[in-house]
Amino acid sequence: ERLVGAAADREDLAVEAALRPKDFGEFIGQTRVREQLDLVLRAARARGATADHVLLSGAPGLGKTTLSLIIAAEMGAPIRITSGPAIQHAGDLAAILSSLAEGEVLFLDEIHRMSRPAEEMLYMAMEDFRVDVIVGKGPGATAIPLELPPFTLVGATTRAGLLPPPLRDRFGFTGHMEFYEPTELERVVHRSAGLLAVEVTADGAAEIAGRSRGTPRIANRLLRRVRDYAQVRADGVVTREAARRALAVYEVDERGLDRLDRSVLHALLNLFGGGPVGLSTLSVAVGEERETVEEVAEPFLVREGLLARTPRGRVATPAAWRHLGLTPPAREGG
Ligand code: ADP
Repeated sequence: ERLVGAAADREDLAVEAALRPKDFGEFIGQTRVREQLDLVLRAARARGATADHVLLSGAPGLGKTTLSLIIAAEMGAPIRITSGPAIQHAGDLAAILSSLAEGEVLFLDEIHRMSRPAEEMLYMAMEDFRVDVIVGKGPGATAIPLELPPFTLVGATTRAGLLPPPLRDRFGFTGHMEFYEPTELERVVHRSAGLLAVEVTADGAAEIAGRSRGTPRIANRLLRRVRDYAQVRADGVVTREAARRALAVYEVDERGLDRLDRSVLHALLNLFGGGPVGLSTLSVAVGEERETVEEVAEPFLVREGLLARTPRGRVATPAAWRHLGLTPPAREGG
């Protein structure tokens, strides 16, 4: 696993429960989504109703699971957590839905990865709080309608555009989660340090925040690695110096790029003069699978304005040359 990968690893899962904000007040940043959701929930509470279904879109590690737990807490409701890939058959979904308590929150992570039949069952469940359970096979199969208690579905996906429109339309509210600003991530680092009983200086927190790729999960993970370093090699305090040295050991640079990201940029600049070069050629040069370059390294490089995907191939931006300490070539033809 990459230190700067946004998917949760085993250690994250173990500590995340302890680091999760428990209510809107503790939840840092995402002001717009927080305010919108707060209104949705307050209104539902005032009506004595179950909250509308909520779709949260955004990259991994931005706080979607955390928000679903906060939604349940605000509604005073229990919560069930599952994910699209875990629901392969419509029957799996029927079993979950039919065991929900009234008002319960069902968090469905990676909802875009659910199987087609399960998705169709979900349409009816969301709209009419009803499912048809199919009993038997072939011509003798019968659909037995089953009433469900009202519940709130919180779906999470990396991009709302990945969902088929009929599913997207059944959510009463969609919250788009943004990457976090460095100052917000500094607050995340300070808060987590407090919970983990780690001493961190202001510039230590800033150093970690700047390398966290806009993602609280990564900030928390880098904090733990810097803490280890500070404990073993220094006096245990997370200072700027400790952060710099620790993250040099882990090959995470000042902008949050790791070895893979930098080797993609190096190949692009040094072997292909900054491009354009095809993805396959670039991947071979880096010695990685095409998918790894495309799905793991490129999204962040594109977001950082270091790499552009063009119809003719991958191109390095002037910022990429500068980041690696090189001079961008003069542009041809102005
Ligand atoms: P997602 O479900 O989007 O992958 P999570 O909700 O699991 O992300 O959040 C990952 C980690 O980041 C959790 O440990 C959580 O404590 C932390 N985190 C996420 N958002 C925030 C936030 N707004 N404020 C503080 N910590 C956050």
